[in-house]
Amino acid sequence: MSGAGSALIHDVAFVGQLMESLSVPVFVLDTDARVAIWNRACERLTGVAAAEVLGTREHWRSFYDQERPTLADLVLQGRRDAAPGAGICAMPPRAGDTILDAMFDADSGPDAPTNGLTLESWCDMPRAGKRRYLAADASPIFDARGRISAVVETLRDLTDEKMAQAALEQLATRDGLTGLANRRCFDDTLRAEWARALRQKQPLSLLMVDVDNFKAYNDTNGHLGGDECLKRVARAVASEMRANDLVARYGGEEFAVILPNQSLKGAAIVAERIRARVEHLQLPCRFAPGHVTVSIGAATALAAPDNDASQLVAIADAALYRAKHMGRNRISLPMSEAA
Ligand code: GH3
Ligand code: MG
Ligand code: MG
Repeated sequence: MSGAGSALIHDVAFVGQLMESLSVPVFVLDTDARVAIWNRACERLTGVAAAEVLGTREHWRSFYDQERPTLADLVLQGRRDAAPGAGICAMPPRAGDTILDAMFDADSGPDAPTNGLTLESWCDMPRAGKRRYLAADASPIFDARGRISAVVETLRDLTDEKMAQAALEQLATRDGLTGLANRRCFDDTLRAEWARALRQKQPLSLLMVDVDNFKAYNDTNGHLGGDECLKRVARAVASEMRANDLVARYGGEEFAVILPNQSLKGAAIVAERIRARVEHLQLPCRFAPGHVTVSIGAATALAAPDNDASQLVAIADAALYRAKHMGRNRISLPMSEAA
């Protein structure tokens, strides 16, 4: 750097102007945890004017409904409280927070490559009026003697990216018509639950639920009427689920229900409740008994290393086939159990 250049960065007014011209929201805390700089981009992000926060310790109010330290405070507290040689432990993050980088070492001085914190989290943003997902980086600034003289925090608003990611996840795992888990999510969950059942030596049950005579329902009520019926049936099936159960749209007019840690007897009870609930919807249909019904095949397995979850699907499918064969609007258990 030229001599003129280095003179420039020691010019306080110049540094102030530089901060203001940045499009990145930045604020700086002094060693007393008071706001020393709050640039224009930070004003725009938070809806809080610099004049309101400068010289105060009230900066947290721009981000959170309830008092909690910002990342810059944590860096400051960590530095201040650290015993020489001890690592710094930031306070536990809230649900949904992601501490990406806690490379923070009490021995590090001005030449240390990393001595800040990075955090991604949802912030309440009370003054801006809407929650934002912010990525924050906070780093200490050292004086010539290696003592901390301030902490600078820069912020990035990742809300749009986070929302887009959530929408993609929704698309990837949910069925568009019913809002239930889709087939892919079902396959992944069944595999995971099978592995868990194997580890914990617990039974795993599966129900295959198929709408009876649905082709005829479509023929009478049109495809849109059929869609509406599927949504009602989906809600009815889902209403019988416990927290750890998963109900998915397996395909067309067929739903699958994963019941972790459920015996066949328990699964049969759930199946009968689902069957009855759909019947009570009393959705008119030209086939006997005059309203929409479902047939359900149940299966239960004690997972073993030499078999896999597809066997459970095959057994439940065979039971469903028998329920259809026996006249529909009924539940059916595997052959060995039904005998
Ligand atoms: P069964 O009692 O033996 O199950 O007879 P079914 O008529 O229900 O079975 P089939 O497999 O012959 O017909 C299923 C019908 O479901 C045919 C298909 O057009 C309809 N279907 C599949 N997906 C959808 C959907 O998303 N919306 C609507 N409206 N209909 C669908
Ligand atoms: Mg059907
Ligand atoms: Mg079917």
